[in-house]
Amino acid sequence: MTANLEGMAPTTETKGEGPPDTGDKPKVALAIGAHPDDTDFGCAGTAHLWSKAGWDFYYCVVTDGSKGTSDKALTSDELPDLRQTEQRAAASKLGVKDVIFLKGHVDGELTVNRTLLGDIVRVIRKLKPYAVFTHEPQQVFHNNAFVNHNDHRATGMTTVDAIYPTARDRLNFPEHLEEGLDVHNVKDIFIWGNDNPNFSTDITDAVETKVQALLQHTSQFGGGEEFLKFVRERWKDEDGHYYERFRRVTMAR
Ligand SMILES: [Zn+2]
Repeated sequence: MTANLEGMAPTTETKGEGPPDTGDKPKVALAIGAHPDDTDFGCAGTAHLWSKAGWDFYYCVVTDGSKGTSDKALTSDELPDLRQTEQRAAASKLGVKDVIFLKGHVDGELTVNRTLLGDIVRVIRKLKPYAVFTHEPQQVFHNNAFVNHNDHRATGMTTVDAIYPTARDRLNFPEHLEEGLDVHNVKDIFIWGNDNPNFSTDITDAVETKVQALLQHTSQFGGGEEFLKFVRERWKDEDGHYYERFRRVTMAR
C-alpha cells in the first residue's frame, strides 16, 4: 500500500533559522529539562541567541539532580544544592532570565504522573511561553548509539501533555485559576534529541558561550581538553558551522 503523505508536516530541515515571529504575543521561551545541564546540552546556543534578540528565555529543571555523580565523596544530599548553583551560573552566562527548579522529583525515578503534569502546567500557565523546548519523548535510542534516559523521556512526554491539552483547558487543575493563573496556549514546540529534526539554529557565534555554560557544571565535567573537543565536535556540521537541531511542531490552533 502506498502511504498518503499529503498533509504531513515537513521533515526536511531548513538550516539556521532565527526565532519565530510572535506577532503581538510576548517573546517568551521556556526550556524544560530533566536534570541540571540538560537544557544547556539541548538548547544553550539558541537560548543565548534568542535572549540577545530580546526574548525572555527561561529554564525549568524537573529533578533534583541527586544521582548525577560518580564522585564517591559526594552524597545525594549534597548534590542538589551544588547542581542548582552550577545551573544558575550556566544560565547567567547565556542571558537566561531565570531558572525554575521543581521540587519533589528525584533524579532517576521520574515517571509520567499527575503530580509532575500539574507542576509543569503551573510553570507554563505562570510564564506563558510562546515556545517550549524539551526532550524527545518517544525515542528510546539516539542514532543507534545512545539510550534516551528514562527521566528525559518522562520529562518530554509530560511536557507535551502539559502543553496540549492540559494547560489550555480551564477545567484541568482548576486550583491554578484559583491561584490567579490563567490558561495558556503554547504555539511552538521544539524537541531536542530527535533523529529527524526539521529546524536548526546556527549557533556558530554562540558555541563558545555554550561551552562556557556547560563548563559551569563542574560536578559533571572536568573541563579537560577532551571534553572541550567533544562539546565542540558534537554540534559541528560538515559546512563548518555549528547547529542545534530540533523537531519543531507549530500548533495549528
Ligand atoms: Zn539528563
